[in-house]
Amino acid sequence: MAISLTKTDVVIVGLGAVGGVAALPLARAGLEVVGLEAGAWLTPADFAPDELRNNVRGWPQAVQKANHEVPTHRPNASAPYSTRPAIHPMMNAVGGTTLHYWAQSWRLNPWDFKVVSETTRRYGASRIPKGSTVEDWPFGLEELEPHYEKVEYELGVSGKAGNLNGKIDSRGNIFEGSRKREYPMPPLRGTGFSEMMATAARKLEWHPFPGPAAINSRTYQNRAGCAYHGYCNRGGCHVNAKGSTAVTTIPKAQETGRLKVVTQATVTTVEADTDGRVSGVNYLKNGVEYFQPADVVLLASYVYENVRVLLLSKSKAYPNGLSNNHRQVGRHYFSHNQGASVTALFPRNLNNWYGLPAQGTAVDDWADDNFDHSGLDFIGGGNLWIYSDRRPISAADMNTFDRAPQWGSAWKAFVKENADRWNTAYLQKTTLPYEDNFLDLDPTVRDPLGFPVCRITADFKDNEKKVAAFIQDKMVQWFMTAGAVATARGQLGTMGPTTHAYGGTRMGNNPETNVVDRWGFSHEAPNLGILGASVMGTSGAHNPTLTAQALAWRTAEHLAKNWKTIRK
Ligand SMILES: Cc1cc2nc3c(=O)[nH]c(=O)nc-3n(C[C@H](O)[C@H](O)[C@H](O)COP(=O)(O)OP(=O)(O)OC[C@H]3O[C@@H](n4cnc5c(N)ncnc54)[C@H](O)[C@@H]3O)c2cc1C
Ligand code: SF4
Repeated sequence: MAISLTKTDVVIVGLGAVGGVAALPLARAGLEVVGLEAGAWLTPADFAPDELRNNVRGWPQAVQKANHEVPTHRPNASAPYSTRPAIHPMMNAVGGTTLHYWAQSWRLNPWDFKVVSETTRRYGASRIPKGSTVEDWPFGLEELEPHYEKVEYELGVSGKAGNLNGKIDSRGNIFEGSRKREYPMPPLRGTGFSEMMATAARKLEWHPFPGPAAINSRTYQNRAGCAYHGYCNRGGCHVNAKGSTAVTTIPKAQETGRLKVVTQATVTTVEADTDGRVSGVNYLKNGVEYFQPADVVLLASYVYENVRVLLLSKSKAYPNGLSNNHRQVGRHYFSHNQGASVTALFPRNLNNWYGLPAQGTAVDDWADDNFDHSGLDFIGGGNLWIYSDRRPISAADMNTFDRAPQWGSAWKAFVKENADRWNTAYLQKTTLPYEDNFLDLDPTVRDPLGFPVCRITADFKDNEKKVAAFIQDKMVQWFMTAGAVATARGQLGTMGPTTHAYGGTRMGNNPETNVVDRWGFSHEAPNLGILGASVMGTSGAHNPTLTAQALAWRTAEHLAKNWKTIRK
């Protein structure tokens, strides 16, 4: 029998990127918030620049949750399972994955909110890929813009505006939607390599710019500027320059006295009454089961866990899982088209031993619908990103470009000469949802608590494969213009467990095809909100977190403004 605790106004499940953001507007609005977090608080002592620990062994998380519930994957319903990875790099700690993420902090482009109507208007309805369930978002970028701005200022984002109130500035991204305010800090500094690549892009008449990062380029709100120390990729920040929610919004919410953080608390299910309203959550802490009653529940435990918790929360009102009477939980799932990279070899050292992956040069000329697709056979595109990041183990793991064997003294000599002469571009590309890509509960594989893990049934379709090949061509062209002597193309791969997962609880006006409404609240359980990229219906060509955080702020603000109606 679970121990029943005192009722709170709002319970947030997971204090990571999105739960950690939502807590702040709620606490500031005077609501009592309990944040249940499966992990613990980490300290700068946990953030040693240790490549073996952070990048190879998967980080010493205080609570090994993500690694014990890695979703299973099969490309389609009749295919055999793919090999299950031993670790999943999402973090279990206060601050979640923002503790060790790269911190690229992108807004989506206007097109990403209106893929169906804009594609139809420009090229005709037949250009929407067959089998895709993509819908327009229930609102456009302009409605999310104020929330992007709030989050950028609360976390501290460095960057250069390319479209300030309609005024285009080629020092920033000229393709971005209009923003009302400049970034709170100037961009992270460039490197010799990023400048060289920017010059090559200009030679091609493209429009390079420094990408935005939730990393201080100077002291901001009493947190230090970045030390460009070189172990940021899957590493926590020992000087608090990275704008993790653990050092930004969560402590600010705690300062109000209205956020109670409960660590090492693993939520297992959400309870619902017979009238369909949720009443609180069950969680386990140190082997003891508790019930935390709340007027409102906000689920913020990352895409796979959001879906899993909903499907596990069966009740009289929701026999198929919470908020799943329309059978939409788990649908419209997709993972970012991030594979199909391009690696280049240069004839000289690039000095990439210092710096961080959020420090680099971007090109958006081939992203979204920024170019004419009339003569092409796909929609969407990709963001081209080159960056500074080189650590000893990954450097030695380099491609040999068919110029040396994979072992022995000739391999060693090649790596010795070329370890700092190569670079792999990070190419994020449009991915769409399809009717046969979905999440459900695995029928046999379970976590250590005995609950089924999430199962992914999904694969990239023709549109994604064509975008990938097109973007690789552009990247090869960029590297060669910059003086590369060889390039190699990576495989696209399949849609296994990922750090850029989307959908499963999609947001939209139609309850027949979406789990949450335009505010992020369940169409079926009116006092249940869902936060994170699980509500996003398109990915665009940029990392998801800032958009998921802006949506989380918007949902929380809506809740605070409409408290009496939503709590009833
Ligand atoms: C190495 C790496 C680099 C990345 N770089 C970028 C980047 O540059 N830019 C970008 O936009 N995105 C990046 N991402 C992705 C980004 O981290 C995610 O988009 C983001 O963290 C998702 O936010 P979230 O709050 O949904 O999940 P998280 O931040 O992972 O937070 C979820 C929280 O919920 C907790 N939790 C889970 N289950 C339960 C439960 N049952 N009960 C209680 N608590 C629970 C977890 O412990 C965790 O703290 C990166 C990810 C990784 C791994
Ligand atoms: S590179 Fe900068 S942001 Fe990243 S961990 Fe080092 S100091 Fe922190």
